[in-house]
Amino acid sequence: MDHLEQKILSIIDEHAEELKEIATKIYYNAERGFAEHETAKAAADFLRKYGMDPKEGLALTGVKANINESEGPSVALIGELDGIGCPAHPDAVKATGISHACGHEAQMIAIMGAALALNDPEVKAALGGKAIFFGVPAEENLSADIKEELLKDGIVFNGGKSELIRRGEFDDVDISITSHVHMVGGTTADLLLGNVASTGFVSKSVHMKGKAAHAAAAPHDGVNALNAATLGFSAMAMIRETFQEKDAVRVHGQIRDDGFPCQTIPDHVHVDLMVRAKTLEAINKTSAKVDRAYEGAAHAIGADCEIVTTQGYLPVIQRYADQALIDAADVLKEQVPETTIQHINDDMINFASTDAGDLTHIMPVLNFTFGGAEGALHSKDYRITDEYKLHIMPAKMMAITAYRLLKDGAAEAKAIIDGFTPVMTKEEYIAYAEALH
Ligand SMILES: [Zn+2]
Repeated sequence: MDHLEQKILSIIDEHAEELKEIATKIYYNAERGFAEHETAKAAADFLRKYGMDPKEGLALTGVKANINESEGPSVALIGELDGIGCPAHPDAVKATGISHACGHEAQMIAIMGAALALNDPEVKAALGGKAIFFGVPAEENLSADIKEELLKDGIVFNGGKSELIRRGEFDDVDISITSHVHMVGGTTADLLLGNVASTGFVSKSVHMKGKAAHAAAAPHDGVNALNAATLGFSAMAMIRETFQEKDAVRVHGQIRDDGFPCQTIPDHVHVDLMVRAKTLEAINKTSAKVDRAYEGAAHAIGADCEIVTTQGYLPVIQRYADQALIDAADVLKEQVPETTIQHINDDMINFASTDAGDLTHIMPVLNFTFGGAEGALHSKDYRITDEYKLHIMPAKMMAITAYRLLKDGAAEAKAIIDGFTPVMTKEEYIAYAEALH
């Protein structure tokens, strides 16, 4: 490692206790997407304390601070602000049921720690481009009723990153670096380098409309919307055999509680669905099949069926570890020799979805995942096991990766930008998302 890398590591180590304290505070005060006011404030206060001038309230809660406004490539270090609804988790906020059972507090600490180190005058002077510390809202998909409410607040697109792209807040970003606690089962190393392919999805709201009647006295006068919805689930299950392994399809959903008493034939039922797959093509193909399943079920029962398909997230496009990530991990290992490192491979897939997938369609996204936690993500069993690996190591990875990209006149960043062909331009992306609204 060079002397500036040594300095970056030392700065983060010197502030480790402060970073862990903020991590604990954020961890126990998890907030829902687009409502992460306290988390955002903690990040903004920290950035201000260490000499930066963050913009706040981007897409309601986003926080963004730049260092080095110079010409040259810009690299955004991304942290996600939100928690996940998991009321059964022992550390969930009692009033809301939101918890950090997805480890997003670690991402926020990672960008804060990295900001602290990269804003050191000597380090900053060595950067041939701009570093952006970006706390983004709402990675976790929100329920349809919350999304409806958010529309009134001007949140149009689905997911914090998507909404920020729409608002032009990624226009000044050439490369993003993202991180997450490990998402692929069986990952045992401290660091997994590279962006694992994930599924993307569209959401569906199926409104089955029937006719109410007394369930015992005159069921023959009714049209049972619940029966139509149930048959829709069965039809969807029957088409599962047409899904191909290579597409990593997942279809799942639930019936909203519409509050009918048992003695009434329900005249309407809402079904919320997610249709996931590894490519946009497979998502679209499966989406059409699912529509047929529910439309056919409605027809069989004599109900009417209205299906609204809305924007979900795009799949993450797999990206092997770039040299900057590999070198950064080596620097960490040089400092802490027990650090273990793994690389992604073609067999890995993340069946869950993230709006980081949307970013991968328009810019290079360098990603690593980290250990320090155990138990299934989003479950009551998720636990922090190692504070260094969860709350300090990722800050070092973020900082050294960004430094590697931007040092020497940002040579590595420029090479990555030159070698990248986006699947969609920003305009094409916005057109895609608008078509699903
Ligand atoms: Zn997550």
